[in-house]
Amino acid sequence: MHPDLTLSHAQALDAADPLASLREQFHLPCDIIYLDGNSLGASPKATAARVAHTLSHEWAKDLIGSWNTAGWFDMPLSVGDKIARVIGAQPGQVVAADTTSINLFKVLSAALMLQREQAPQRTRIVSERHNFPTDLYIAQGLCREHGFTLTLVDDGEVLPALGDDVAVLMLTHVNYRTGAMHDMAKTTAAAHACGVLTVWDLAHSAGAVPVELLAHDADFAVGCGYKYLNGGPGAPAFAWVHPRHVDAVWQPLSGWWGHGAPFAFSPDYAPAQGIARYQCGTQPMLSMVALDEGINTFLKAQDWGGMAALRAKSLAMTDLFMALVEPIAQAHDLTIVTPKQHEQRGSQVSIAKDTGAYAIVQALIGRGVIGDFRAGDGSGRFGQDIMRFGFTPLYLRFEDVWHAAQHLQAVMDSGEWQHARFQQRGAVT
Ligand SMILES: *Cc1c(COP(=O)(O)O)cnc(C)c1O
Repeated sequence: MHPDLTLSHAQALDAADPLASLREQFHLPCDIIYLDGNSLGASPKATAARVAHTLSHEWAKDLIGSWNTAGWFDMPLSVGDKIARVIGAQPGQVVAADTTSINLFKVLSAALMLQREQAPQRTRIVSERHNFPTDLYIAQGLCREHGFTLTLVDDGEVLPALGDDVAVLMLTHVNYRTGAMHDMAKTTAAAHACGVLTVWDLAHSAGAVPVELLAHDADFAVGCGYKYLNGGPGAPAFAWVHPRHVDAVWQPLSGWWGHGAPFAFSPDYAPAQGIARYQCGTQPMLSMVALDEGINTFLKAQDWGGMAALRAKSLAMTDLFMALVEPIAQAHDLTIVTPKQHEQRGSQVSIAKDTGAYAIVQALIGRGVIGDFRAGDGSGRFGQDIMRFGFTPLYLRFEDVWHAAQHLQAVMDSGEWQHARFQQRGAVT
């Protein structure tokens, strides 16, 4: 009946964890419990040597030849092939390049242009009010440029908003604030039944939860390289387009890397076939090799059960954290906003508090428990200030989960968070 919430039980779960040895692949300071891998993944130990090799050999010795000899030119597609394995896509369907914001600009624009050709009466984009702001900003920019309108609905209320004037449903699969996860198969099917194309942002999904883009018949997707894929700060992001759409339209950033023959130096743009056309210009190779190493490290989990094992551990960790936080929440007016149902949960636990959430996160950081704070806009059921705790099954231990909850309890019971030094806000929260 009652879950075992003792430290010794958490340690027993670690002892039985098939993925436990993967922690060794990462740099993790021993005085820190890192619950922010959903914002910036930890550094794989292999990454520093790989980047150093690119600097000292590929660049310093082989110079420009490395575009061929070190495979630099092909990396957006070769790294994309590795990402494809994590998101239920085929080789040749994913490109690693640019940022999530830029890739969203490309794929959302392509989706809108497809609809403009095929169904010009469809003039709306539907998304959620608490979607990640850059996604909404990119959509707003495209609306201004092309005469579409953006309709924002409350989180989880998207299906009733679909209709025959809607061109695109743009959703983030796992919400960055609440950790709530959409049913991609069901949502996509409902959108298609209304003639609506789907654009999925996988920033909090790729490497965190099972994703089956092809099996679930999605249309377009983008995602992030520096969160659960551990590609490093500012790592290239990725884009995927279903094969039925990929050659149907140009993407708007028609740069030379997306040309069918970039080294023909023709004055006329003729896009490459397939996902290669979603490239724009020269990519940052130091960041690209770091991303490659992040994904190589992630793919080591294949030997210990792969995504199924990662998902099982992630759910067990978030279950344990929720159970430990429950009594603290009751005593201190905190609300766990992440869904209890497994099929609706990503890999984080978010806790709302009307006032003081920022200071509580700062007090936890002061104790070495690194989560983060996301300001609310006060609107709706999901508009409160939120404390986020990301649980990365690749490198976290159940013991970390237990200690993190203990620290939260101490911060709350003692009122430590109310100290003035925890109220000061930095530029990045
Ligand atoms: C992290 C995140 C981004 C990041 O976009 P950048 O272009 O890398 O700054 C975009 N969308 C969502 C949903 C995110 O969670």
